[in-house]
Amino acid sequence: MNLENVNKVIKDFEKSIENPKKSKGKKLYTGVDLGTAFIVLCVFDEDKKPIAGAYEFAQVVRDGMVVDYIGACDIVRKLKSKLEEEIGDELIYAGCAIPPGTENIDGGAVKNVVESAGFITEKVLDEPSAANTLLKLDNGAVVDIGGGTTGISIIKDNKVIKVLDEASGGTHFSLVLSGAYKVDFDKAEEIKRDFNKHQEIFPVVRAVIDKIISIIDNACMGYDIDQIVLVGGTALLTGMEEYIEKKLGIRTLKPSNPMFVTPIGIALSL
Ligand code: ATP
Repeated sequence: MNLENVNKVIKDFEKSIENPKKSKGKKLYTGVDLGTAFIVLCVFDEDKKPIAGAYEFAQVVRDGMVVDYIGACDIVRKLKSKLEEEIGDELIYAGCAIPPGTENIDGGAVKNVVESAGFITEKVLDEPSAANTLLKLDNGAVVDIGGGTTGISIIKDNKVIKVLDEASGGTHFSLVLSGAYKVDFDKAEEIKRDFNKHQEIFPVVRAVIDKIISIIDNACMGYDIDQIVLVGGTALLTGMEEYIEKKLGIRTLKPSNPMFVTPIGIALSL
C-alpha cells in the first residue's frame, strides 16, 4: 500500500465534491455507502477518475443493518439527482457494500435501496474487500472503526483471509461522552465530531479506545501483522493512529479521510 497514492485519490475525490466535472460521455460508476452516520455517493468514470460526490448525515443504518428503509431510499434518490444535475448526465451503474457475513440478512435490503433510487447494481461487495480496492494492502490488517462496531480484516497477499466484527465503535464513545458531559446523545455526537474538541475528549473516551485495541489485538493473534490501516468514521478521532501504534507496537496508518475509503473502493471496483 502506498499511503500517498491513497491520499491523492481521496483528495481528488474531495475536490470533485466541491467542483463536479462534466461526464464527457464516459461510462460512470457510483459507489454507494450506507453508513451509520453518513450516506456517501462517489462517482468515478471508466478511467477511474473521480467525477463527483455527495454525502449526507443520516441515521438510517445501524451496525450495518438498514433500520429506516424509506429514509435510506429518499436520501440516495436525492443525492443521485443532485449529482446528475451537477454532472449533466444520468447515473446508471452502481455498487454497494455490506458488512461481511450479512449477505443473507441485509445484503438484499442495501441493494434494494440502491435500486429504488434508479441505479442498476453491478456489484454488492463485502466492506473490507471494497476498502482494500483503494488501499491495495498486500499484507496487514484493515481496521474499520464504524458507528456500532469495529471490523478487523486480515489481508494476506492482497486477499481478505479473515474478518471479525465486534460491537464497539463510535456510538460507545458518544454514550460515554453523554454521561461525562451530562448532555443527550445527539449533543455528545456533535461534540465528538468537532475536531477542535478531540484533544479534550480523548482521555474521556480512552477506556473505549483501549477496548477497541484489545479487540484488534485478539483478532491479529496468530497472524504476522506488520501494519494496520484505519478506516471508518471513528478513525477520524485525532491521535487514534499514534495511540494504537504505541499500544500494539504495530505500524498504524490512517488515510487522510478514513470515511471515504470504502465508498471510493466500491466505485473503483466497478
Ligand atoms: P458500522 O460499521 O458500525 O455500521 P459505519 O461503517 O456505518 O458503522 P462510519 O460511517 O464509518 O460507520 O462511522 C460512523 C461513526 O463515525 C459515528 O459513530 C460517527 O459519530 C463517527 N464520526 C464521524 N465523524 C467523526 C469525527 N469527525 N470525529 C469522530 N468520530 C466521527
